[in-house]
Amino acid sequence: MRRLIVSDIHANLEALEAVLADAKGLYDEIVCCGDLVGYGASPAEIVEWARKDVSLIVRGNHDRVCAGLDDHDWFNSKAQAAVRWTVNELTEDQLAWLAALPAGPLFVDGFMLAHGSPADEDAYLMEYEEVYTLVEMLVRPICFIGHTHFQGAWTWYRDDLYALQGPVAGRSETVHQLSPQNHYLINSGSVGQPRDRDPRAAYAIWDSATRELHLRRIAYDIASAQRRILDAGLPQFLAERLATGH
Ligand code: ZN
Repeated sequence: MRRLIVSDIHANLEALEAVLADAKGLYDEIVCCGDLVGYGASPAEIVEWARKDVSLIVRGNHDRVCAGLDDHDWFNSKAQAAVRWTVNELTEDQLAWLAALPAGPLFVDGFMLAHGSPADEDAYLMEYEEVYTLVEMLVRPICFIGHTHFQGAWTWYRDDLYALQGPVAGRSETVHQLSPQNHYLINSGSVGQPRDRDPRAAYAIWDSATRELHLRRIAYDIASAQRRILDAGLPQFLAERLATGH
């Protein structure tokens, strides 16, 4: 089974369309690690796409807040503005669908799926120390996550932890051969708002038969996504940051 792994689309339709076109023919089903909405200007389109085409999905913190399951006091002012705007854009039916998304982790075949961490859906896993002890939580040897908007993966080998990188600027893909003996925590990166200083949309393809993990980047029409954010009256910063990937 070949799976397209996407996360943190954040209502960026231009970025999602570029990913789907780039990955065409390379996958059998779509898996999503959450944050469909928030920040971008196309939440209704992204929710409808997910309802129709995504096989497996966990909720993200922005999905939870926009669905009214949590208040947004802990969001910064720009994220709060995006929440208010998003709630207005979605129908009752779409909001109810968002509210019903499961919290991670989910367990499927040989892998698991979470938004922030298998231990806590809101945790940001960035540091060695935070990731190192998590191996105990990996009920399956592979866990896909999102939330940080940084693409990459970690693997444990003989009491140590190693990082697997995504493609550097100028390259569109890195391929990692995953060992059946090891555990892996994999962040496919953010489709709609990358923060690892590469503005290209990030995603992954996992082929469970060949055990190849493809970490991929694709350029998209950032100017058009920015225009839509500004036309919607969303904070200018949310448009600007798409261009820097930061
Ligand atoms: Zn996010």
